[in-house]
Amino acid sequence: YSYYALEPFISEQIMTLHHDKHHQAYADNLNKAVEKHPEWGEKSIEEIIKTYDRAPEDIRLALRNHGGGYYNHSLFWEMMSPKKKQVPSGEVLVAIKRQFTDVDSFKKQFSESAMKIFGSGWEWLVIDNGKLSLVSTSNQDSPLTQGKIPILVLDVWEHAYYPQYYNRRADYVDAWWNVVNWEEAAKRFGNGMK
Ligand code: MN
Repeated sequence: YSYYALEPFISEQIMTLHHDKHHQAYADNLNKAVEKHPEWGEKSIEEIIKTYDRAPEDIRLALRNHGGGYYNHSLFWEMMSPKKKQVPSGEVLVAIKRQFTDVDSFKKQFSESAMKIFGSGWEWLVIDNGKLSLVSTSNQDSPLTQGKIPILVLDVWEHAYYPQYYNRRADYVDAWWNVVNWEEAAKRFGNGMK
């Protein structure tokens, strides 16, 4: 989708900076790191995120931070859609109701958890041992490293909202619900439960 496709909830300016500058920098730095150890360049990004603690020490932190940044943002773009105001349905809706009572309670808990992240990080809905669960991560860490399967993810780094929402993270989180790609979340849930 285009840079302005998520307007008015996420501005064209944010999407352009976020994708072309921030995400690109993570991709470039990840590529630089794996040039030093080409066997790591042959792995999928998911494999890198799951196993970077076994990587050579001189690239381990780069794989964690820049590999994480590359992976998390790749997911994040897919978790939003120009088809606005989608609602969850099917199996993922059943699982949300089972775990969080109803959709509004789920959104409230997810948003509150996102608000509590101190500094830079991400809020996630994951499958953990066959059940839906909320996870907050710092910096560019991913729950995939702990074997949890991402279903939905929100970037709460300031760069994700500051140009449009300034310090009002709560307004950004509220607005973000309008562009959540529940079709993608349902697909990921279906695959994750197999
Ligand atoms: Mn970001």
